[in-house]
Amino acid sequence: MLLDLKTLGESRVHLERTYPPSAFEATDEFIVGKPVELVCEVEKIRDWYQLAGHLSTRLRVQCCRCGEGCDTDLDLAFDLRYVSEALSAGTNDAEIDNEDLTVAFYRDDQIDLRQLISEQFYLGLPMKPLCQEDCRGLCAACGKNLNSADCGCSVEWRDPRLAVLDGLLKR
Ligand SMILES: [Zn+2]
Ligand SMILES: [Zn+2]
Repeated sequence: MLLDLKTLGESRVHLERTYPPSAFEATDEFIVGKPVELVCEVEKIRDWYQLAGHLSTRLRVQCCRCGEGCDTDLDLAFDLRYVSEALSAGTNDAEIDNEDLTVAFYRDDQIDLRQLISEQFYLGLPMKPLCQEDCRGLCAACGKNLNSADCGCSVEWRDPRLAVLDGLLKR
């Protein structure tokens, strides 16, 4: 998934790439559930390359309440400035702020599209994925998934911090 900058030729190139889910390794947070579509414009501006475009796919994540797998669709726009690593190491350019998320680095005249894509995955990943808006989660007593059926346990879930308070009051 390397973009060879030497073969770009023109100063502005339209790029469309599709990668199968199998091209991406599963992580603890997600697996890729649909081909990844990447559409972007690559433009050479002075001594950097500007990559502006879109990425869409579907990630399979885990519901944060019940642990079941659920899908989250990604459709992300990006606009990144790719600066040569060698060039940025040698100069002290105040224009380049390493903390800036829109600045990335390339080396050996190649832009690593895999890195670009996986960074977008993490940017688009929901903080607390839910299989459904009102997921009921798991029973605190028996561990059953309450979305499929009530387990019949009479134990109400209580905040463990409150239990500590109860213990203090009883003293
Ligand atoms: Zn759930
Ligand atoms: Zn239960």
